[in-house]
Amino acid sequence: SIVLITALLGSASTVVALIAYAEPVNAISKAVQNFAYSNHEPDLPDNYNDEIGELMANTQGALKKLHSMLHNMHELSIRDELTGLYNRRFFSEQAEMLLIRTMRYEEPLTLIFVDIDNFKSINDQFSHQVGDHALRQIANIMTDTARGSDLTARLGGDEFVILLPNTSMVKARQISERLRNSMERYDWTSLLPNSDITISIGMAEAQEYDTIEKLMDRADKNLYRAKKGGRNQI
Ligand code: GH3
Ligand code: MG
Repeated sequence: SIVLITALLGSASTVVALIAYAEPVNAISKAVQNFAYSNHEPDLPDNYNDEIGELMANTQGALKKLHSMLHNMHELSIRDELTGLYNRRFFSEQAEMLLIRTMRYEEPLTLIFVDIDNFKSINDQFSHQVGDHALRQIANIMTDTARGSDLTARLGGDEFVILLPNTSMVKARQISERLRNSMERYDWTSLLPNSDITISIGMAEAQEYDTIEKLMDRADKNLYRAKKGGRNQI
């Protein structure tokens, strides 16, 4: 009887120990699974002081590091390096989705196409480096003017776009005017002594059966008209 009871107690304590291990092992497994399938940052408990605790801490550390690396790589792939605005590729992807949504819910959508006036002469007069500073400041002004839901991007060179979801041409015109005005009124003295920066803007509102290419093409044609009309206008 004594041997049997001792054996049973021994088995029971082994089972208890296994159950105690099962919980943290499950937590680790779940964290790895969540990370693999939905890129969820892990949040493993830190109240285990044994080998399991060490495994948990190591898993947590490794997954957090991987999560932050993936985030940084994603940011690099969607951002324009100079200005930090979205790049052309990301803009095209997002714009396509916004256009589909617009068509489905019959909401307005307007594109603002921006090109800096005589920007080449800013580079020639001051330097390419100063030109880069100006591009960064222009991007800041654009971000300040756009709303949180708007999609602002640098297409390349001195060309920028803002896509305004749920916005008609009438409302977009006010935003464009505010942007044009902010650019004109910005004090460029310290960066560009005796010089100013202005922008020209072309807009287009999405129509039925539109594509992003067609929308951009119409905005670009209107931008050309603004340039032809004497620049610093919409
Ligand atoms: P317009 O009013 O007709 O637009 O005249 P523009 O001189 O701005 O002519 P355009 O838009 O064709 O030229 C863009 C210039 O922007 C050409 C190039 O010197 C300059 N540029 C393009 N990319 C960069 C850049 O990354 N950094 C700097 N500093 N300049 C750039
Ligand atoms: Mg230009």
